[in-house]
Amino acid sequence: MMKRIAILGSTGSIGKQSLEVIAQHPTEFAAEVLTAKSNYRLLIEQAARFHPSIVVISDQNHLDTVERALSGLPITVLGGQKALEEVVTGDRVDMVLAAMVGFAGLIPVVHAIKAGKQIALANKETLVVAGELVTRLAHEYKVDLLPVDSEHSAIFQCLTGEQQAEVEKVYITASGGPFRNLDTAALTIATRHEALKHPTWNMGAKITIDSATLMNKGLEIIEARWLFNLKPDQIEVIVHPQSIVHSFVQFCDGSIKAQLGLPDMRLPILYAMSYPKRLNGLFPRFNFKDYPLLTFEAPDSVRFPNLAIALEVMRKGGNMPCIMNAANEIAVEAFLNDRVGFYGMTRIIEKTLRQATFLPVAGLSEYIESDRETRSIALTFV
Ligand code: NAD
Ligand code: MG
Repeated sequence: MMKRIAILGSTGSIGKQSLEVIAQHPTEFAAEVLTAKSNYRLLIEQAARFHPSIVVISDQNHLDTVERALSGLPITVLGGQKALEEVVTGDRVDMVLAAMVGFAGLIPVVHAIKAGKQIALANKETLVVAGELVTRLAHEYKVDLLPVDSEHSAIFQCLTGEQQAEVEKVYITASGGPFRNLDTAALTIATRHEALKHPTWNMGAKITIDSATLMNKGLEIIEARWLFNLKPDQIEVIVHPQSIVHSFVQFCDGSIKAQLGLPDMRLPILYAMSYPKRLNGLFPRFNFKDYPLLTFEAPDSVRFPNLAIALEVMRKGGNMPCIMNAANEIAVEAFLNDRVGFYGMTRIIEKTLRQATFLPVAGLSEYIESDRETRSIALTFV
């Protein structure tokens, strides 16, 4: 049976690679829905090639252009952010691949879960903001939350066939980002151009900056906590610059399992799409002779304070991760626009965490309000 997939954010780094995977497995997968925020040119090109039933362009300014370009094809064209909530629930959709960036992914994912769709989750911010709610809903509506993030896909693969109660801890690997060897003085003056040059992964701008500050690992710890029902103390970050071991799981007998592969997101994308099967991956294979040395070291949370912030926020719980996420989104955008420096991002997050309203318990509407409040507070510190 063909799996029909709605790709939210098809024009992004993950979205494009998902379409490559679909193109390589045309009898297994079809792109049923494609969506983009504003890159209408690429969206039109993708629609003409993959023939989805529906495309959504969130930025309404481009709606006419997309409609006109696709007018000869049997494709419904919708505009606006609200349309995302509807398209994920359609009868013809079997799986929703959440590959949007940021908080904006949360609401469509909640709608998709409630409609009983399988979820392939790249959008880690969804679980950072509302992990308790989203995992509870997934359980209630009996849908799979299949991780696309490479570390979480690794952990998920290591856990297959194992008992939750026998998991002692997980080690999430981190490349260390482009600034792994810089000291604080150099980091203070690091630019966005330098930050955007990631040594092992080619990704969207936001996650690339998050990788440079190690906030990405902070977000991933919280993501792992919810996906695998772990206690904060069961998660450790380990820097592994070659990005070959994608994560480890240690069991109660002391045994450790790892998942390895070249740093290629098409692999975890394919695994999430084909789960519980494995399909032939048409990508280059790892060659041990090319990697005589795989190294591991502890992360430095003095030079990279965002990692420590994320750990503390995870322990506090409630809406704290939601606040941290929103403050971080504002901070990263400010850095990308050259309005703050590298540590300016940390300062925005720290100040915002002190001012935003803390809620020990929150539901969807509280998260939406908290995100809104936090953004306006964080903007005052830019
Ligand atoms: P990207 O910036 O390359 O692409 C983002 C996509 O989402 C684009 O198609 C864009 O049009 C769409 N989008 C952005 N904001 C939107 C909004 N407000 N409303 C609707 N659509 C919107 O990002 P990416 O690197 O592909 O990352 C996507 C998600 O996957 C992020 O959450 C990221 O953390 C996660 N992720 C990415 C990678 C990677 O290798 N790129 C790896 C692991 C996890
Ligand atoms: Mg990752």
